[in-house]
Amino acid sequence: MLGPKIECVVSVSGIRGVVGDTLSVEQVLGLAQAFGVAIAHCERVVVGRDTRTTGPLLAQAVSAGLRAVGCEVIDIGVVPTPTVAIAVKEFGAFGGIMISASHNPAEWNALKFFNRDGRNVDHTQLDWIIECYKDPPMGFHRRWDGVGGYREDRSPLDVHLARVLAAVDVAAIRASAPRVLIDCVNGAGSVLAPRLLAALGCKVVAVHDRLDLPFPRNPEPTAHNVKHVGALVRAADADIGFIQDPDADRLAIVDETGRYLGEEYTLVLCAASRLAAAGPGSLACTNLSTSRMLEDVAARHGSKVERTKVGEANVVDGMQKHGAVIGGEGNGGVIDPRVVMGRDSHIGMALVLELLAKAKAPLSEVVRAIPTYAIHKEKIALDRKAVQAAIPGLKSAAWAQGATADERDGVKFIWPDRWVHLRASGTEPVSRIIAEAPGLDHARELAEMVRAATGAAVVEH
Ligand code: MG
Repeated sequence: MLGPKIECVVSVSGIRGVVGDTLSVEQVLGLAQAFGVAIAHCERVVVGRDTRTTGPLLAQAVSAGLRAVGCEVIDIGVVPTPTVAIAVKEFGAFGGIMISASHNPAEWNALKFFNRDGRNVDHTQLDWIIECYKDPPMGFHRRWDGVGGYREDRSPLDVHLARVLAAVDVAAIRASAPRVLIDCVNGAGSVLAPRLLAALGCKVVAVHDRLDLPFPRNPEPTAHNVKHVGALVRAADADIGFIQDPDADRLAIVDETGRYLGEEYTLVLCAASRLAAAGPGSLACTNLSTSRMLEDVAARHGSKVERTKVGEANVVDGMQKHGAVIGGEGNGGVIDPRVVMGRDSHIGMALVLELLAKAKAPLSEVVRAIPTYAIHKEKIALDRKAVQAAIPGLKSAAWAQGATADERDGVKFIWPDRWVHLRASGTEPVSRIIAEAPGLDHARELAEMVRAATGAAVVEH
């Protein structure tokens, strides 16, 4: 075996660990070599990173590993994750590696692998990388005259910016001249978000947009972690506040009154904007566990929503299959195929600003016009096998009569104004129950009925 045993978290969304603890430089080097051979076929690879202090170190290890197996490296520096996907296609590269642990705290870092299509590697491709890491082929390393080249290129940021600007009604946004507070959490969005907002004619109040400073807080943009941003929005007299995660693929929103909307609203607002522009018959796509507010918004524009299994890759597959004009998940990740086939907070911001410009109304009013639901989530001690075994019993339960059952990802029971979804976690031997209903009591009740029927205990609310 080439490298040290892998003890970090391995999934299609990245290989993550605490640097110097569960993720070492040797592993990163070995994984880059394996990626270079198994996915990039020793050809050109794009490398980007977020602003973590371990980023430059790991970028050097990744570049060294790739070059040692003959890959040509184009280093695009500090960029949002979606910029790497854009650059892979722009440069005709055979793959890309983003060095970022996304919303994880500063001590974490990760490698996120992109294939030639600019998409995250799938499970099969991830297996190839791990196999190649554990058991490298003969002639793995090049001789001195076969080492891959290296160059730096910052132009993909300009391409990314241009694509976002081309996707929205810039004149309408400029005419509305909104005052926008942007919090980049000192992450990779700092290099693009303030620039984009200025190009859209916004009066920009940027906070935590410094590449040289650490994350000012736990960087996941949850209500708890960003509860101070509402006061900043009010103090700045802003029309809206945007909050990015460190690799700028997720977006959370605060309204002009300082209220944190919740990441479920990001996709809903973006879809309202995009579906209005695309016209009747256009499609949105999201996973089975995302709020049904999306159906309500789609119905207003004569549009429909296609649902897929949970996971960004499943949503992207669904979008391509059905020709969706907008997609994403309820975690603040919005996908617009005109920009990139992956989550991007920048097109998210532009679409929301376009929506506000056309509505000529404050954000809180626009949100109030969307039916509200309460979502209840819990984790229960039930593994994948047990979920499958429980489905027939759940379907025959008295309360489930009259509901539509969708069995593509665990089981989801759907009524006209509520739903409950039981699915096995992809990473732990537990399951999640997510319920949405017009009131929190109803949502809890639905979750409880499912839990009681399975006989499983709650692990975490
Ligand atoms: Mg992220």
